Amino acid sequence: MRGSASTGPAMKLNIKDLSLKEFEAYLGGRKQPPYRARQIWQWLFQKRATSFCEMTNVSGSLREWLTQDFSISRLSVIREAVAVDGTVKYLFALGDGQRVESVLIPEAERLTLCISTQVGCAFGCGFCATALLGWQRNLTASEILDQILDAARLAPAERRITHVVLMGMGEPLANYGETVKALEIITDTSWGIGISPRRVTVSSVGLVPQIQKLMEDTRVNLAISLHAPTDEVRGRLMPINRKYNLKQLLECCRSLPIPRRKRITFEYVLMRGVNDSVEDARRLCDLLQGIRCKVNAIPFNPHDGSPYERPRAAEVERFQQVLYARGVQVNVRRARGDDIQAACGQLQGEGLVAAKGGHRRTAEAR
Ligand code: SAH
Repeated sequence: MRGSASTGPAMKLNIKDLSLKEFEAYLGGRKQPPYRARQIWQWLFQKRATSFCEMTNVSGSLREWLTQDFSISRLSVIREAVAVDGTVKYLFALGDGQRVESVLIPEAERLTLCISTQVGCAFGCGFCATALLGWQRNLTASEILDQILDAARLAPAERRITHVVLMGMGEPLANYGETVKALEIITDTSWGIGISPRRVTVSSVGLVPQIQKLMEDTRVNLAISLHAPTDEVRGRLMPINRKYNLKQLLECCRSLPIPRRKRITFEYVLMRGVNDSVEDARRLCDLLQGIRCKVNAIPFNPHDGSPYERPRAAEVERFQQVLYARGVQVNVRRARGDDIQAACGQLQGEGLVAAKGGHRRTAEAR
């Protein structure tokens, strides 16, 4: 259990940092039945209570104890940017002044929220803006959950968030404990936020042991950042490939207990002249043979800290055609919110890159 991350005196625990089990244990110490924990969780995560006084089916004395021992956090919004396509980027301040971003993506049938799991990131992928920040710290479960609760509160026209993707800043599986604690609350329909695990996706840089564990511990969808079909190119783009190479990663994928109707998503950021050739596409098909999967091809989103370029539309199309022809399911992801730097991999907390001396794109690299 951790101290309050966002509000309240330092001695109080942030109640949203506890798992249901931990909270049941606390209530046990107060001679309260376990079902009370679920009642209070419903107040927090379904009715979105902001104080214990609101919890009218909880006895007065218990409300007093709770008020003494716990705080209920809320993130403060520093900036809210709305893109022409309706995408909204929220810049949130955490209790210690660190900042994270979440992106709300409205579509006809769904409202997806993309959330962060760490401040910065330690994995150093060469094309990613968050990498320039380095790793600052892990988010607590409450900070992961509050992005959803606070974005829902701020969402235009009070639309309900239907999908959550852990594809913002950071590597979810390098913050395993807090991420899984948050996922349990996000996906529980009887006392939690109630978004079905079929509508929740965790994206990983490719941490093999943690991927295996996630598939045992949860029923959420898995996305893996692949980005290149050879160890040579992937190793250059993603330092993690030196620890878990393509063979290890794909063997892991082959052996995962993925239910029949589900597929693993492979993310593949297309960078001009780096990984977007016909040969690359063919090799990718070879690699993925026998894995029930789909490929999300993401044309690279340029940012100041990176020398890479987005391929032309015809090059993206050519890549996609090779996959089609080989029967590999492929979607090309349209950049959303790129006019507000909310597109994939651009979530670096404005101003922070410059403050940290992140390398700017040079004239030669353009
Ligand atoms: N750490 C997780 C989540 C990170 S971000 C992971 O690595 O999967 C989600 C996706 O955005 C990843 O696939 C990441 O590689 C991709 N991405 C990062 N920078 C990008 C950029 N500039 N353009 C397009 N996609 C990018």
